Amino acid sequence: MKYINKKLTIEKVNLEKIAKNFNTPTYCYSYNQLKNNVINFKKNFKTFSPLICFAIKSNTNINIIREIKKFGLGADVVSMGELMIAIKAGINPKKIVFSGVGKTSSEIEYAIDKKILLINAESKSEIKEIERIAKLKKKKINVGIRFNPNTDAKTLSQISTGKKENKFGVNNKTFLELVNYCRNSKNINLRCLSVHIGSQILDFKPYVQMLKTIQNIISKTNYKFEFVDLGGGMGIAYDNKNKKLNYKKYNFAIKKFLKVVKTKIIFEPGRSIVGDIGTLISKVIYIKESAKKNFIILDAAMNDLMRPALYGAAHKILPSVKSTIKAKKTYEFVGPICESTDKFTTINKFQKLKEKDLVAICDVGAYGMSLSSNYNLRPKAIELLIKGSKIKVIKKRQKHKDLM
Ligand SMILES: *Cc1c(COP(=O)(O)O)cnc(C)c1O
Repeated sequence: MKYINKKLTIEKVNLEKIAKNFNTPTYCYSYNQLKNNVINFKKNFKTFSPLICFAIKSNTNINIIREIKKFGLGADVVSMGELMIAIKAGINPKKIVFSGVGKTSSEIEYAIDKKILLINAESKSEIKEIERIAKLKKKKINVGIRFNPNTDAKTLSQISTGKKENKFGVNNKTFLELVNYCRNSKNINLRCLSVHIGSQILDFKPYVQMLKTIQNIISKTNYKFEFVDLGGGMGIAYDNKNKKLNYKKYNFAIKKFLKVVKTKIIFEPGRSIVGDIGTLISKVIYIKESAKKNFIILDAAMNDLMRPALYGAAHKILPSVKSTIKAKKTYEFVGPICESTDKFTTINKFQKLKEKDLVAICDVGAYGMSLSSNYNLRPKAIELLIKGSKIKVIKKRQKHKDLM
């Protein structure tokens, strides 16, 4: 996304044109950004060619998943719905891993019937449930065990998942017990150790720490894991201050790990594949100034983009037409929803805006639409895929009658 003749443009289409043709709020995704992200991700780890399983929960639009499938990626799913959409998008079940702390019996059955690569179990009870169903079906099922390495990912506490107080994975003691349990099971084929320590991670050091902890626990098992699934979590630069994750150092640490542990690496990236491909275009409905605060009231709200309300995440906002006139005041960018957390950001001396102007909320490709809701009975936004000067509607705008 860049300014061409002062107009904010995604690939070759400017935001004004999109808003005129499709109204607002509108989610737009850049095909070329998606392609570059996949190419770069592969390039960063090319020496050991990992299996890359896209974390479906970050963006559940089937057209986006189809494009990702064409680049050869598999999928990481966390529910029956996600497993169904991954298969419907054409992803080979042999490239699908299933994570999550609360898989139900019917989800496990479905995953077994679809012959996916791995069910990554997160508790003793789940292993036993998989074994029970496998026994009934007279099958031996490929599983992984999710290990909780008690590593601080140094990210927002709400999206940290690898510390001992988090609900995810099992601790050292349970892990060792479960490895022995699986060794003796006729219906469970333990093939993988999986971890996922959190999301929006920008410091490589927690990953190095995590690798050390995995190496240590594997050495205690004396078991050959065909796969080590390192999860996702690679952060992106949401603002200009955000430093970037040092992929070279992460790659180097994995290569060192692989010298000791002979295994195939799996990754489950979501945000790093789709985060920066998405933009939410929104229109200023009203500008409201008061003694204490000033508000830019947008037509996009927390139901469209939940991340700021859910965990205080910050998204950059850009005007669709650039000018040099600055506003003199500080404005809070808010939505129309009846909640005080329905606010995106506060900006001092933003470019002067008028009512009906358009703005772009940036980097909303991950956990944007997928976290959206119909709160306040607001229809969900339209989604567009932009490739050069072509615009494809990849999901229609919901209508009020769909909600009645
Ligand atoms: C959410 C999740 C991911 C993806 O995380 P990102 O930060 O989007 O890369 C990967 N694996 C598991 C198990 C997850 O829950």
